Amino acid sequence: MYDVIIIGGGPAGLTAGLYTSRGRLKTLLIEKGLIGGLVTTTEWVENYPGFEEGVMGAELAQKMQQQATKFGLEIKQAAVERVSVDGKKKTITLDDGSQLEAKALILTTGAHPRTLKIPGEDEFRGKGVSYCATCDGAFFKDNDIAVVGGGDSAVQEAIFLTKFAKTVYVIHRRDKLRAEKILQERALSNPKIKFLWDSVVEKIDGDNSGVTSLLVKNVKTNENTKIDVQGVFIYIGYNPNTEFMSGLANLDKENYLITDENMSTSSPGVYAAGDVRAKQLKQIATAVGDGAIAGVEAEKYIEENY
Ligand code: NAP
Repeated sequence: MYDVIIIGGGPAGLTAGLYTSRGRLKTLLIEKGLIGGLVTTTEWVENYPGFEEGVMGAELAQKMQQQATKFGLEIKQAAVERVSVDGKKKTITLDDGSQLEAKALILTTGAHPRTLKIPGEDEFRGKGVSYCATCDGAFFKDNDIAVVGGGDSAVQEAIFLTKFAKTVYVIHRRDKLRAEKILQERALSNPKIKFLWDSVVEKIDGDNSGVTSLLVKNVKTNENTKIDVQGVFIYIGYNPNTEFMSGLANLDKENYLITDENMSTSSPGVYAAGDVRAKQLKQIATAVGDGAIAGVEAEKYIEENY
């Protein structure tokens, strides 16, 4: 039996693992994708303290992993199918049917991109429709492309995409951005970025070569416009990765895990940290804070209950 099992290998999970491993608890972190989570899909991180010139997302993730494993954190690449709690024992069932047990559990599974659910989105996914500028941006050298959304992700990634694209249309449903002011200033003064305000994408069109155009509706005038683009990056927020947690702990109405300030969920010995947790500010800086608290609280729980 492990002392602690952490599900999810982003900044929250790696920080929780750093703390529990330094607490000499036998800790396993399970991750189904890339270690680092969404951070690895970010080219540059400029607002994580300690890196005055910024740091590449992938490099930051690698450093966090190396630091945690140095102190003994074990990492397993696998998908979790089910988690159950029976008294004090937590059982994790993996997708190959094998089971693992732990005294305490830390859930740091993060969130995944929301989709627009419009015609053409599924059809052209990977053929011009993308949710990751860092992964796919370079395919659009000298092309015209669009970014949908007005939050930090949309604006930051639109700026990044100007490295490759000729024109980046930012299509936002309102006339005011939600993104950080410094990002807004940079985007608004970037000659390659054109804003389509009060606008929503109704349809993505294409042919054998991939995306060719978008049908965009102005929500104030109801006027439809066709814009010719070869790619569209969708950044309209995230949904939490809590599908396999049904009945495990209380969720809010958007399915984020509810915790107290000690990262405790409604299930004793089960903690949540990072973007999967119901909270206001979702940043790497807040995820690592959550992870540290969850690690320390898991240690206290084990001392008091075993
Ligand atoms: P977000 O803050 O939830 O913003 C989503 C954007 O998409 C909003 O502008 C929203 O419009 C729009 N939107 C939502 N549903 C839509 C729909 N169905 N159709 C069209 N537009 C839609 O998401 P995010 O930008 O991905 O950020 C998520 C979290 O990560 C935030 O807490 C953010 O601060 C953080 N983050 C931080 C950084 C950074 O610090 N540099 C970078 C990336 C992400 P409205 O504005 O009208 O609601």
